[in-house]
This record gives sequence, structure tokens and C-alpha cells, in this order.
Amino acid sequence: MQRRETKQRETVLNAVCARCDHPTAEQIYQDVRALNARISRGTVYRNLACLSQDGKIRHVKVPGADRYDFRTDPHCHAVCTRCGAVLDVPAAYDAELDRETAEATGFEILLHRTVFEGICPACRNAGGSGS
Ligand SMILES: [Zn+2]
Ligand SMILES: [Zn+2]
Repeated sequence: MQRRETKQRETVLNAVCARCDHPTAEQIYQDVRALNARISRGTVYRNLACLSQDGKIRHVKVPGADRYDFRTDPHCHAVCTRCGAVLDVPAAYDAELDRETAEATGFEILLHRTVFEGICPACRNAGGSGS
């Protein structure tokens, strides 16, 4: 890999690690843009894909968006269905569930992703018990 590419990858990786709110690719692009106006959206998106493939960051699929996470250990997420905020939740990864599922289906289970959906505290406090 060329020096310039390595540098760009580092910049993207740092941008992901600088945030703990599970940014979208677009948010990362904006952050990287602020540091290096010459980096293109395509470059940022491509580097995000490479970094998650390499296991340096984690691609988090939640309803409505693709997000990125600097935490690569298996953990569960909660997503707010109003504002889209994504949080880490303390629920432990259930390895037993993988084992049971493997047994029941004959699959070799690699992992499962748990996403809780609900209303985050900020949105709850914003009031409006309606809808
Ligand atoms: Zn919310
Ligand atoms: Zn996370």
C-alpha cells in the first residue's frame, strides 16, 4: 500500500475512534473533511469498508443506517427509533445462544447481532408522550 493511502486510512481510523456515538459513514466523511479537505467521499467510504473488513473497526447494521464502531469486541446495541442514536448496552454477548442455534440449525454460527429498539433518554425527556 502506498504511503498516501496508509495515511488516509489512518485518518479515517482516527476519525472513527474519536467518536463514541457510532457515526455514520457520512459523519466520518464530514470529520475527515474538516482535517483534510482534499480527501474524497469515495476514499473515506472505501477506507471504512477496508477497515471493517480488516477488523480494525466494526460495521454496525441498525435499522435505517449503516454505522461504524471503534469497539470490535462483540457487544449489543440499542437504537433510538426517534433520533437514530446508537448506544452500547451492557448486556453480555450470549455465546450460549450461538451454540444452541448451531445445534438447532446445523449452521456454523459466527456471531449474532443484538439490537434493542426503543426511545432514548434525550427523546423521552424532550416530552411528547404522543405518537
Ligand atoms: Zn433519541
Ligand atoms: Zn458499539
